[in-house]
Amino acid sequence: MAEEVSNKQVVLKDYVVGFPKESDMEVKTSNINLKLPEDSNGILLKNLYLSCDPYMRSRMTNRDRASYVESFLPGSPIIGYGVSKVLDSRHPNFKAGDLVWGFTGWEEYSVVSSPQLSFKIEHTDVPLSYYTGILGMPGITAYAGLYEIGSAKKGDHVFVSAASGAVGQLVGQLAKLTGCYVVGSAGSKEKVDLLKNKFGFDEAFNYKEEEDLDATLKRYFPEGIDIYFENVGGKMLDAVLLNMRPHGRIPVCGLISQYNLQQPEGVYNLSNIIAKRIRMEGFIAFDHYHLYPKYLEMILPYIREGKVSYVEDVAEGLENAPSALIGIFSGRNVGKQLVVVARE
Ligand code: NAP
Repeated sequence: MAEEVSNKQVVLKDYVVGFPKESDMEVKTSNINLKLPEDSNGILLKNLYLSCDPYMRSRMTNRDRASYVESFLPGSPIIGYGVSKVLDSRHPNFKAGDLVWGFTGWEEYSVVSSPQLSFKIEHTDVPLSYYTGILGMPGITAYAGLYEIGSAKKGDHVFVSAASGAVGQLVGQLAKLTGCYVVGSAGSKEKVDLLKNKFGFDEAFNYKEEEDLDATLKRYFPEGIDIYFENVGGKMLDAVLLNMRPHGRIPVCGLISQYNLQQPEGVYNLSNIIAKRIRMEGFIAFDHYHLYPKYLEMILPYIREGKVSYVEDVAEGLENAPSALIGIFSGRNVGKQLVVVARE
């Protein structure tokens, strides 16, 4: 039986140049049939939580630069990671009632036609929203970046930028659990307090208040940095290069300070990479999804035992999704930014 319901959606109006604005998106309503057609091999989802992630900015650009994701289609709902409930399935791996995380639309209901990137949620004793962050893509990013790319080990001196965000807060805590000395940077006093008092970083500073980042890093790392978990790029990267130890590692996770610039900033201290034999390596979460079961085995007990803390910034309702998304580019979010569409 056909069952049409209304479907609220967040649509990208047009490609974005420079910093994104709320008015680049609009909330619209269309209709959707809650029964999949017989010839479908997809899944029909009721979306519960949506994730606001910095990489989504690159999808708002009419692509002329190299990227690993396709641009959004103006006039269509934004696509991103989310947590959803399967309402109907024509795919052999999923059935109605399953909870999943993976790519979905910024709307109340979505049809995902190739659900190979949807992960079934097996552990529901932890908040479902965690699958947009610590138990989802940002979690694997932190884990793979720190251990697979950064080769973190006990005693390493680790610096994390954008440290209170979804990825950074976890990188710092995992590094502490590994026995590293850990310093984080963030953009407000509130965030610095969180890093030191909730996430257990050894030290933290507000980069917006530091005039000479090189001197700041020398103060916190008099013997140099072994691992710089790179989330921001720009001036911070340049200052870090001056302070790396020989054979240091720089997992390049993101360069958020550059995402909205029409002309990326230059990096000037690259000769340190040679002189200090630094290994600087970019990586992408989805190349490491095969590690997800191993990661869950490690992180779930840490969450249950309270050995890892996790802070979320929760926006209520699709109407507030555009503002939540653009907020991450000015640091308005405190912790992982997500949007609640429905609570089951
Ligand atoms: P998030 O929680 O959304 O946090 C973003 C934070 O970045 C903001 O709260 C802000 O905090 C900081 N920021 C924004 N603009 C900045 C600027 N111009 N300069 C310095 N800091 C700025 O982010 P996330 O999800 O943890 O992501 C962190 C980084 O990892 C991003 O670069 C993202 O693209 C990258 N990432 C990469 C992968 C991958 O597969 N490679 C996967 C996930 C994330 P402050 O208040 O501290 O400025």
